[in-house]
Amino acid sequence: WSKRDFSWTKKLEANNKRVFGNHSFRPNQREIINATMSGNDVFVLMPTGGGKSLTYQLPALICSGITLVISPLVSLIQDQIMHLLQANIPAAYLSANMEWPEQQEILRELCSENCSYKLLYVTPEKVARSDALLRQLENLHARELLDRIVIDEAHCVSQWGHDFRPDYQGLGILKQKFPKVPVLALTATATASVKEDVVQALGLVNCVIFRQSFNRSNLRFSVIPKTKKCMEDIHNFIKDNHYDECGIIYCLSRMDCEKVAEKLQEYGHKAAFYHGSMDPELRASVQKQWSKDEINIICATVAFGMGINKPDVRFVIHHSLPKSIEGYHQECGRAGRDGQISSCVLYYSYGDYIRVKHMLSNGAVEQSSFASGYPRAGATNSGRTLETNTENLLRMVSYCENDVDCRRFLQLVHFGEKFDSSNCRKTCDNCLNTQTLVDKDVSEIAQQLVGLVKSVRQQFSASHILDVYKGSNSQIVKRNKHDTLSLHGAGKHLAKGEASRVLRHLVVEEILVEDVKKSDLYGSVSSVLKVNEKKAGNLLAGRQTIILRFPSASKAPKSFRND
Ligand code: ADP
Ligand code: ZN
Repeated sequence: WSKRDFSWTKKLEANNKRVFGNHSFRPNQREIINATMSGNDVFVLMPTGGGKSLTYQLPALICSGITLVISPLVSLIQDQIMHLLQANIPAAYLSANMEWPEQQEILRELCSENCSYKLLYVTPEKVARSDALLRQLENLHARELLDRIVIDEAHCVSQWGHDFRPDYQGLGILKQKFPKVPVLALTATATASVKEDVVQALGLVNCVIFRQSFNRSNLRFSVIPKTKKCMEDIHNFIKDNHYDECGIIYCLSRMDCEKVAEKLQEYGHKAAFYHGSMDPELRASVQKQWSKDEINIICATVAFGMGINKPDVRFVIHHSLPKSIEGYHQECGRAGRDGQISSCVLYYSYGDYIRVKHMLSNGAVEQSSFASGYPRAGATNSGRTLETNTENLLRMVSYCENDVDCRRFLQLVHFGEKFDSSNCRKTCDNCLNTQTLVDKDVSEIAQQLVGLVKSVRQQFSASHILDVYKGSNSQIVKRNKHDTLSLHGAGKHLAKGEASRVLRHLVVEEILVEDVKKSDLYGSVSSVLKVNEKKAGNLLAGRQTIILRFPSASKAPKSFRND
């Protein structure tokens, strides 16, 4: 798509310079524009900051009709429109929370003889639930003025993705009603299965696909064990590496956001919190202060993110476990959009895994903000969604538990991309780790742990199992007579952290399963380990070997210093 000149090539280049002020095109931009202007359905996978907006705004500018853009977030739309109007490109938007007279005025302009709009942005529920809009689109189409349909953040269509929005599924109607109008679907995150899902749900035909590497070479990745002094660690990390620079700290719960922000303020940082149950005005004002560098650090739930395009975010810290690798990749993607080196640090504890798992089954996890601008909370997870979410979470645990493979490799493999770890050039913690690693056969330890879970009738937690295995004589061990079990103390001789590493591996492999119990009145979470008989069979029968790598020098594997 880049080789030959098209009838629009000159106009394209001129407008890219004159209107958008760009000296050249970024990778794939020209190709995408040529493909969509040639009338094809196009699917684009491009990392955050890659320059997706230009691929439809520039065609919109040089075509004679209107480009319809479906985008999930009003704040994101408003931001785009502001930029377009600054560049003198007429654009408007429609959303459900707009006053009706205002909506009508825009609809009237649309059917006027010489409608000035080049781009019309709408939120997905408008398409799914507003007949008035569909009638207007039919009208535009009949007058041959509907040039192109753009679906931004297209991964929201898929239930398999990390950001499913039901209204996106209704967008298939567009291709049914306007089969000849080219669709351009854009996303910064999609695995192979999500891509298939999107293409099918939208009804794209002979779709041209562009994907570029999702590797962000200017980001530095590391996973750090989360201990009781996590806040002190975070403070020191920022002080030593990013003093007075701008960053985001992602927290699991609203309460966490407030606590973390408060602690950082005590340490003298300019920090604030941001989450879904704040007053919307206060929330907007926090975001504004952050954009203007009056606040350096925002402690937020994932509700803060989509549509944030501050270029100089120098660090993204995860105070708790993210819910999926896709989500993690996208959240980290908000760092270093200007191409400068930036840090992504994840604080991981197994306890957080249990917490997130519990929240998922309760539907208590705050999702990225919804079209209305208000985050979705309280929506209960059920059936397939819960299963997918749990699976996504387990992959994330496996990523954190891995202290051997290149972080970039581990992330990119998830997007179906082969990454040669030698290209990481020691820019992640695992590649930086100079300790020599040795393989160790831990099959026997694994068998014993599974045996122990069975002998306590699958009614005790992981930490209790480890206590018994190491030979603890605590009250609770004695009270349950677990000191009389034959496996009591069987793991006494093992190096610190070794047994727990094996046990976590068994959970990641789904040989053991965390069964998270309903919280009590005080909101505490309890969980018990169960055996997945289907997957444990081979191990117990001695047909499966489990090999883990450990540093040969120190006995304790690095990521479990917190045991
Ligand atoms: P995405 O939507 O893929 O995250 P954006 O469309 O927001 O990315 O673009 C990211 C930044 O890159 C914006 O500030 C935009 O102005 C800039 N940009 C896009 N295309 C070019 C280009 N060809 N040359 C220079 N800057 C560009
Ligand atoms: Zn690496």
